[in-house]
Amino acid sequence: MAAVPLQFLIDEGMRLLAHCLKCGRCVPVDVAPIAAKFGADFPIPHVGKRMRCTRCGSRLVDTMPYWNDKSIRGAPTTFAYPTQLTGEHRSDPLVLRC
Ligand SMILES: [Zn+2]
Repeated sequence: MAAVPLQFLIDEGMRLLAHCLKCGRCVPVDVAPIAAKFGADFPIPHVGKRMRCTRCGSRLVDTMPYWNDKSIRGAPTTFAYPTQLTGEHRSDPLVLRC
């Protein structure tokens, strides 16, 4: 099965969930800046290889669709993350902010 491209998230209005495999931190990130950089055809699992966790510095980052967005569509989530993360990707959109 082919890896799902970023376009899937754009179509579904979902974010990307970045999961640091070293320290366990999970952060949902906006897809738009990532798709702008790598293209909408870029496979979702490959994004993690370009990311780095800002908490522990690990490059072992897993990326997957943020399925919570599928059901709640912009509503507040039960997932705890800093609200300032959304849309705040000024210089480097591929840094996993924790
Ligand atoms: Zn980490």
